[in-house]
Amino acid sequence: QAKEQGRDNFQYFTDDMNIESLARMALENDLRSAINNNELVVFFQPQVNMLTQEVCGYEALVRWQHEQAEMISPERFIPVAEETGLIMPLGEQVLRQACQHMKAIMDSHSQHGQTVAVNLSARQFRDMNLVNLVRDTLQETGLPPKHLELEITESMLMGNMEQAIVTLQALKRLGVTVTIDDFGTGYSSLNYLTRLPVDKLKVDRSFIANLPDNPEHIAIATAIIAMAQRLGLQVVAEGVETEQQARFLRKHQCYLVQGYLFAEPVPAESIQQEAPNVQNRINLAVGHEFDTV
Ligand code: C2E
Ligand code: MG
Ligand code: MG
Ligand code: MG
Repeated sequence: QAKEQGRDNFQYFTDDMNIESLARMALENDLRSAINNNELVVFFQPQVNMLTQEVCGYEALVRWQHEQAEMISPERFIPVAEETGLIMPLGEQVLRQACQHMKAIMDSHSQHGQTVAVNLSARQFRDMNLVNLVRDTLQETGLPPKHLELEITESMLMGNMEQAIVTLQALKRLGVTVTIDDFGTGYSSLNYLTRLPVDKLKVDRSFIANLPDNPEHIAIATAIIAMAQRLGLQVVAEGVETEQQARFLRKHQCYLVQGYLFAEPVPAESIQQEAPNVQNRINLAVGHEFDTV
């Protein structure tokens, strides 16, 4: 009976594996052609400075409208791209589009304080050519380096810390900003923070989601904010969805925020059109009762 069950389980397991790996191969093929045909587009999600009550930048987020399906989430295709190496051409396209659009925004709306943040994958971060790619892309698009921010994650820094430091130093010499994304979700030692040439921490949205009700998440979020301040790092909160969350963050002097409360990611063409709506939401959420926080 036990043996029977074991065999059955094994059977299901291999069937699932086959379906899974076939689906993955199909996804890989489709992704390859989407990249070759420049079908990936970059959306931009505004980031808000609650102190100045302005949009201070955007995060570039890749979007793939599959021809025979609905939008496929980057959570699903980025790991495939990473495993297959497709992340290299994909990452180049995203970086170029992000820099191009940021330059266009600066030129047309004389926005000289805004930045664009681009996510780097592990493979891109380890690539010997990364620094050259960033430098060339900035040069070709004409975007001044201080308007580009690169987001890395804690896990990319582990393993080979010495190499990571060398890469980060080279990026810093270019004049770009480096941010640790999803901060708090990695398994890293805090001690490394003092050794790394990074500028900014982005508090993971899993700690923001349950503010201000969950005492553990209050503890973690406030600890990260305080630590960033003490280390002289900027801090930004992602996934801000409610006014209560925004108020809590303000109270703890975390003024940089990103989330659906203010704006969703939109295509480049819609940034200007959306700007008044975003400004309205900023005014509604933080324009009043600054004194009662
Ligand atoms: P991430 O870098 O942490 O990006 C933030 C994600 O949170 C985005 O999901 C964004 O749409 C979503 N988000 C923003 N505000 C809110 C909010 O208020 N509530 C909730 N629930 N979610 C919010 P998205 O665009 O689906 O991207 C998922 C992940 O895929 C990103 O997480 C990043 O790790 C990766 N990714 C996206 N674009 C790229 C890219 O161009 N290159 C690389 N290497 N990775 C990317
Ligand atoms: Mg990010
Ligand atoms: Mg993030
Ligand atoms: Mg995240």
